[in-house]
Amino acid sequence: MTTKKRVLSGMQPSGLLHLGNLMGALDNWRKLQDQYECFYFIADWHALTTNYADTSKIRTFVHEMVMDWLAAGLDPEKSVLFQQSLVPEHAVLHLLLSMSTPLPWLERVPTYKEKMDQFQDRDMNTYGFLGYPVLQAADILIYKANFVPVGTDQLPHLELTREIGRRFNQFYGQVFPEPQPLMTEYPKLPGTDGRKMSKSYGNCLYLSESPESITKKVMAMVTDPARVRRQDPGNPDVCPLFALDRIFAPKEWCDHVNVECRRAGIGCVDDKKELLKHLLAYLKPMQDRRKELVGDPKRISEIIQEGSKKARLIAAQTLAQANEAMKL
Ligand code: SF4
Repeated sequence: MTTKKRVLSGMQPSGLLHLGNLMGALDNWRKLQDQYECFYFIADWHALTTNYADTSKIRTFVHEMVMDWLAAGLDPEKSVLFQQSLVPEHAVLHLLLSMSTPLPWLERVPTYKEKMDQFQDRDMNTYGFLGYPVLQAADILIYKANFVPVGTDQLPHLELTREIGRRFNQFYGQVFPEPQPLMTEYPKLPGTDGRKMSKSYGNCLYLSESPESITKKVMAMVTDPARVRRQDPGNPDVCPLFALDRIFAPKEWCDHVNVECRRAGIGCVDDKKELLKHLLAYLKPMQDRRKELVGDPKRISEIIQEGSKKARLIAAQTLAQANEAMKL
């Protein structure tokens, strides 16, 4: 029996993962594995809340994402890696929690309206979409997670989970502890066009992308827009490429660029070449691991199945407690 505190986090399966996903979540998940008992799940039911009309790629997306997880260093020996839809207890707890969750709590979730506006191409006026914070609460509460890694923008979601759990406890007795945020502020990662790296902008550098393709994209990447010619001084503070330098290149190089760019002592091509050297070296071990996994699809399925079995054992215990508390 482990005495480590428990961490829970999930990711919607959306296919290949990019550097933004790596720096924004995976890299942190990997580090947490040694300190906590980590449960990381493939949030395939959550993916349905926005993509219910076309599920044709979901299995491929799950498979690709788990390959990226493993390549990035998530270890099924240390963490429980599982698929939400293979643990139906989440859905039952979601149903139970939905009984006592007031509707206005869901309607006031900041991302509810934002996403409604974002997905104008589809009908988001669905029961599943409105209720996704309740499913999220069930995902967390069913493992009695002590911590959930969040950035400041996700704090309201976690607070809602805590409120939903508190309300259940008030009606039926103490079942759910309150999960605490594990505050993690991530470096903002710009894409190749300078906007936030995101699949919907088509500006991503993927973890599994070939070195040739990454090189091509980085060499064409947007830099300080005011620096038109080589002899123009640039400003690293507004340059998206420099944001990548800061993450992947050594400090000495960043210090050098920070001085030389401002007096046109270095060209963007030089900086890009140096960044590539470090970025590709950083990605290489992950890409090597991933190549091994590509040849062994059965292994991926086994890892998901085994992890989901482990998760179910815990989820079933909590659900039994919730049923008992509700006198069901
Ligand atoms: S030298 Fe580097 S930091 Fe300066 S504008 Fe070019 S890419 Fe950006």
